[in-house]
Amino acid sequence: DGAIAFKDVHFSYDPDRQILKGVTFEVPAGKTVAVVGPSGAGKSTLSRLLYRFYDVTSGSIEIDGQDVRSVTQASLRKVIGMVPQDTVLFNDTIAYNIGYGQFGASREQVEEAAESAQIAGFIATLPKGYETEVGERGLKLSGGEKQRVAIARTLLKAPPILILDEATSALDTHTEREIQASLDDVSKNRTTLVIAHRLSTVVGADEILVLKDGVVAERGKHADLMAL
Ligand code: ADP
Ligand code: ADP
Repeated sequence: DGAIAFKDVHFSYDPDRQILKGVTFEVPAGKTVAVVGPSGAGKSTLSRLLYRFYDVTSGSIEIDGQDVRSVTQASLRKVIGMVPQDTVLFNDTIAYNIGYGQFGASREQVEEAAESAQIAGFIATLPKGYETEVGERGLKLSGGEKQRVAIARTLLKAPPILILDEATSALDTHTEREIQASLDDVSKNRTTLVIAHRLSTVVGADEILVLKDGVVAERGKHADLMAL
């Protein structure tokens, strides 16, 4: 389960400017749908609506047939794992940020996830079992490192629904390729919404949507869209 349906979704942040003008698509349970399109097209807005950071102006979004507006954000957090573009970390240890002490995760599981996200070495250098804190007064992480913490967290949580919003955009090409492989592993058999700038990063998606001027302008497999 975890099927997602956007039904004629309209949305605007400001009343005088429509961002989404009737967006309809489905992500069948276990499938991967990617949304690409120019910057400012409203791609990230889709994930914010699914997660209920905002609610639709009209239309509806359903998970397994249930309108997300009847579900609390806390409940959505349990079924949706999100790797956002910009990760904000808790002012706590890296291990905690990955999930140690949360949702019953063991130290071994945290280490395994950290390894897949390529921050294991980084964690291991921290003194006395991850006492070092990240945040204002603690260790500073680069954008790419923060993104890897978010990826590790998602790998560990392995929720039925994944949102990858430019999940690897802050990484260098080499790291991106390797982490993409880990993400492909978790997204297999999971309902996954991928948001990406480049078509080249979403080759394996079951369907790709091109969002333009607030509507789905094109849709198809990677090869179909490459031919356009
Ligand atoms: P994309 O992910 O495709 O780059 P976004 O969904 O982030 O696009 O944004 C779509 C449009 O909505 C952009 O023009 C952006 O400036 C605007 N926007 C995004 N967030 C807000 C906000 N909180 N308030 C007002 N406008 C916003
Ligand atoms: P990126 O360009 O990948 O985002 P940064 O330039 O932000 O990387 O950081 C590079 C390295 O410097 C990282 O390993 C990060 O942990 C470290 N770093 C960044 N800011 C600080 C800081 N204020 N104090 C100590 N180390 C920092």
